[in-house]
Parts: sequence; C-alpha cells; structure tokens
Amino acid sequence: MAVSIHEARNAVLEHAAVLGSEEVGLDEALGRALAEDAAAPNHVPPFDASAMDGYAILAADTASGAARLELIGEAKAGSEAGVTVRTGTAVRISTGAPVPDGADAIVPQEQTTAEDATVVVDGVVPVAKHVRPAGEDILAGSLVIHAGSVLGPSELGVLASLNIPRPMVVRRPRVALAGTGDELTDPGKPLAPGGIRDSNGPALGGAVHRAGGDLVARVRVGDDLEATVSVLRAALRDVDMLITTGGVSVGPHDHVRPALKRLGFREVFAGVKLKPGRPTTFAINEEGTLVFALPGNPVSALMAFRLFVVPALDAMLGRERVVHPTMATADEELPGARGRTTIVRCRSSLQDDGWHVRPTRSQDSHILTSMLGIDALALVPGDRDAIGAGEPVEIEFVA
Ligand code: AMP
Ligand code: MG
Repeated sequence: MAVSIHEARNAVLEHAAVLGSEEVGLDEALGRALAEDAAAPNHVPPFDASAMDGYAILAADTASGAARLELIGEAKAGSEAGVTVRTGTAVRISTGAPVPDGADAIVPQEQTTAEDATVVVDGVVPVAKHVRPAGEDILAGSLVIHAGSVLGPSELGVLASLNIPRPMVVRRPRVALAGTGDELTDPGKPLAPGGIRDSNGPALGGAVHRAGGDLVARVRVGDDLEATVSVLRAALRDVDMLITTGGVSVGPHDHVRPALKRLGFREVFAGVKLKPGRPTTFAINEEGTLVFALPGNPVSALMAFRLFVVPALDAMLGRERVVHPTMATADEELPGARGRTTIVRCRSSLQDDGWHVRPTRSQDSHILTSMLGIDALALVPGDRDAIGAGEPVEIEFVA
C-alpha cells in the first residue's frame, strides 16, 4: 500500500538514528553536528587588549582636558610592552596588543600629536576607554556551543578561539550508490544501440555529497536477479545506507525488491502517493542499515532523494532541519494528479505580496532539464487536477 509523503517521511525519521561520533580537524568540521558541549578553557580575549591604534595611558592624567606624556615603550599585537605605565607616561599600542601594566585607558592616535619622545593628548579620556577586557567575548568556564549545534564558519572560528582544534562531531553516514539497468553506460564510453547515459550516478553522487553523506561506493548492475543480489550484497558491506536507482517498479526486469528481500531487508514502505517518484521503496535490516530504492527516472530519483533521503541523512548526521511550510502564488497553472501529490519543479521570486512560483519546462519524469535552475518545489495535493494561475500553493525551497 502506497503511503503519503508525510507518512513516508515520518517512517524514515523513525528509523534514521543519529550515528556515533569522531574527532575531526576544524578544516573538516564544516556542516557537522557537534557531539559534545564546547566549554571555554580560557577567557576570550585572553588578556585586556587595546581596541585601537594609539597610546596606553592613565585616564587620570587627562582630567584637565589635555596632557603631555612621556613615551616609554611600545606594545604590539603579539608582544607585551614590558614596562609599567605610571602617571605622566604613555606606551604606544596597536589594536589587539595587551594593555601594559598600570595603564587603564587607550587614547586613539587620532586624538594625539606625537613629538619625539612625548605625546600630546587632546581631551579627557575616561577610564577603560577602548580597552577590550579579558573574557568580554567568552568567559572561562562558560558553555559556548551546545552539543547538536551544526558547525558553520562562525562556530569553527569560536572553536579555534577556545583552543579546540579537533572537536568531536557526529560521523558522516557511509553511503553506497547502486544503479540498475542493462541500458546504462558511463559518460565518455561508446553507447551501444539502446544504451543511455547513466545520469543518476553522478547526479545522486553529488546529492549524497551535498547532503553530508560519505559516498564510499558507486556500483552498477544489469537487470538480472542473481547479479543484483550479489552486487547489492557487496555494496552493503560496511555502509549505513544503500541507495539504488531503477528496477523497483513492477516490470519483469525489476529485481531490486526481490533482491533486497533475499538480503534480509524488510520493507517499511513500498510506494509513495507521489508524482514523480511513486515506486520509491524504503527498507531496513536488523543492523539498522537503511536502503532507499529509488525509481530509475532521473527526475523521480532526485525528487525522492530530496524528499526522503535528505531528511534521513540529516537525522543520521544529528542535524535537525525544520521545514517551514511556505505558501506561494502560482504564476502559471501547475499540473496535479488525482490521488498523488505532484511535485512541480519551479523557480521562485519574492514580490510585494509574497512568494511566487513558475514551473520550469515539461514536468515529465524523464525531462531532467526541468531540474535545471530550480529553487523551489510546489506540492500540488492529490485532490486537485491542477492549481490554477493566481492560486496559492504550498512550496518547499531547495538548495
Ligand atoms: P526503471 O525504474 O528501471 O524502470 O527505469 C525508468 C527509466 O529511467 C528508464 O527509462 C531507464 O532507462 C531510466 N533510468 C534508469 N536508471 C537510470 C540512470 N542511472 N540514468 C539515467 N536514466 C536511468
Ligand atoms: Mg530499469
């Protein structure tokens, strides 16, 4: 029995468990979920630092509105002045340099005139002016990034400033990709009569990579049950997820479902009330390995990947993705199909009255170019033959 998109997604999320963790360098940590809380072992900044290029002084020396101070040293970023500022003296200082002992304020260079070994300060400088106190950004001991947070560029920067060069993150799902079909030929190889290019391999390989999966194997098998069993068995070795394309319909040469059964997999659902992508099948085994058997048509495969595999990969990666339902106005009629949700590939635009979508060209499931340049999917419900131009429709944005 075919299930709805919603039921299918929930079933997937029920079985996609967050994976274990591993330590990685900051350069490999982008997009990964932090596996443990990150606390600050030290203050950031670690010392009182100057926020300006200028002079470190005693604020009290400027109380009269002007001061002539003796220049006794210099503090550069990365080195201390090594002298103590006492009344009547100043130390030249750069942005980010430690404020020297004794000094309690920084006067910016623009507010001074330097004359040989003296500096003339114009105006009153308040205590603590232009001093970045130690710990102003992060206090030692505080919890800075919670476990489960996804590491973006700013999180990587904060981890570096906490001196955590190798954070514990959730490991990436190991994914194998298996294309089925006698007709499939790699790009660059001669095409036999009746042959077509394997476009799902590169397209889904890229999709796995983009969704944070670790593509460990990409294999292909012809339309033969025994061969399918043995190729899938090999592809399943040491992976968290297998994605197959093609051979999952009801034709005499569709062997994926019987092969999966032979390999000990149980179908959670076989078929989704969806267009394109109806034959999409999801199965699991005792070890918790997930199999997505996607249809062969390139558009169907990519749509099903987006709707079901991406949420599974997110869950395994420990990333929570909240899909906010968004409504848009259809600028052209969007085709529907009775009893199934139709996913229409669209381009969106933001106008004065909100989002608008316009379908790309022919929406047939073999028209791969209908995917080019899309940034939104419109969901036409199964109780509508079409959504008319000017009518509202639910959309999901795609990256
Ligand atoms: P199937 O799901 O095996 O019945 O395939 C449905 C359609 O998708 C057929 O026209 C296949 O030739 C095509 N197809 C299957 N696999 C691929 C692939 N890897 N790349 C491009 N087209 C494919
Ligand atoms: Mg086939």
